[in-house]
Amino acid sequence: MDIFVATGNAHKLQEIDTMMRESQLGVNVYGASALGGMPDVEETGSTFAANAELKARALVTLLQPGQWALADDSGIEVDALGGEPGIYSARYAGAHGNDEANNDKLLAELADTPMEKRTGRFVCALALVSAEGECQTFLGKVEGHILFERHGDNGFGYDPLFRPSGYDQSFGVLPETVKNDISHRSQALRKLRQWLTNRL
Ligand code: IMP
Repeated sequence: MDIFVATGNAHKLQEIDTMMRESQLGVNVYGASALGGMPDVEETGSTFAANAELKARALVTLLQPGQWALADDSGIEVDALGGEPGIYSARYAGAHGNDEANNDKLLAELADTPMEKRTGRFVCALALVSAEGECQTFLGKVEGHILFERHGDNGFGYDPLFRPSGYDQSFGVLPETVKNDISHRSQALRKLRQWLTNRL
């Protein structure tokens, strides 16, 4: 089975490829570059799952029968902010992917919020779409709290501000192996792997 990952992000591609190899399911993972590159996609969906599906469907016309496209969409939901930044996590402070500005904005928005109300979660949706148009989505979540200041510089994005439930340290401090074990992305990937195991 061939899966083309709808991303230009080499790190995501590597993570998915490693997981598929470990699973020994006989799945071949390729980047969008193998299909000529990732087309521009407007993320107009109102949920992580809808946006992941939009990205995966952008590759579908380039697939051969029997092949699949896979895409992800992820972000952080903060309860005290009514779920924001949510699907807008990457561009919360304006420019796409400015982690420093995004973290500063989140801290400012929560300045008067006590720790017990600083609950939230990272969410990851994966969408797997076949050349024939069938779509499966898989959701992973990790619950936690938003800290009052940055801790550590492991990971990326909001990691230095996020302390997962059951741990004393932020994702910015915890080793990558711990994050990879419990993260929203790894949970969604496990669901995908289970679905593939049943199907193949
Ligand atoms: P995307 O799905 O790769 O576009 O990511 C959306 C945004 O959500 C990123 O730019 C980060 O700000 C945030 N985000 C998603 N996953 C993580 C994570 O594992 N750690 C920290 N921030 C994340």
